[in-house]
Amino acid sequence: TGRLAAAAQPASAPAGADGPYTLAPLPYDYAALEPHIDAETMKLHHDVHHAAYVQGANQAQGELAAIRQGGGNAYLEQRAALDKLTFNLAGHVLHSVFWNNMRRDGGGDPPTGSRVDELLRRDFGSIDKWRESFSWAAMQVQGSGWGVLAWEPLSQRLTVLSVEKHQNLALPGAVPLLVVDVWEHAYYLKYRQQRAAYLRAFMNVIHWQDVEQRLRTAESAAAGPQ
Ligand code: MN
Repeated sequence: TGRLAAAAQPASAPAGADGPYTLAPLPYDYAALEPHIDAETMKLHHDVHHAAYVQGANQAQGELAAIRQGGGNAYLEQRAALDKLTFNLAGHVLHSVFWNNMRRDGGGDPPTGSRVDELLRRDFGSIDKWRESFSWAAMQVQGSGWGVLAWEPLSQRLTVLSVEKHQNLALPGAVPLLVVDVWEHAYYLKYRQQRAAYLRAFMNVIHWQDVEQRLRTAESAAAGPQ
């Protein structure tokens, strides 16, 4: 595409001014998740923090393109650009899932008869046991990171992960279905240091239809063309 071509230009153009990644608007207004997640947090989180990851990922792609063009011994530069790409792009991917995982008047149990309801019960024993595992994984993140419910294609089971920063302890191939951001920027204005209170509030905004859709897409992708 034109955007990809632009990113492949050498870094004579300002890095990150354009690139393959773009910040989509939130799928609802900033106050949509009140009182569970406040509008100010949503605005800063999306418009500043997520925007910075998009910019960082675009810049990293620009730097890698410039290194490829320049040749020579660019090991350190390349290593730094790859670190930058992994961190920022993983942040972009997870935030993009996160916004869509939430909705006004969400939460509760997954709809009866949904595939996600069936697999959560099968793989965790009950919805309450899943809720406990997921919250525990999010609580245990050391420093900044994410609680993740993922579909793991080798075992064809659901699994819970504690991802640190945006990329550490992530599992290649696992498809994120439901993610909760536990960086302090996600909750500190309203909940201060109380991550557990924020996690309880998050349970009230889960968009189960979105999780269901992601699960069905992941399962059909793994099954391949019928
Ligand atoms: Mn975040």
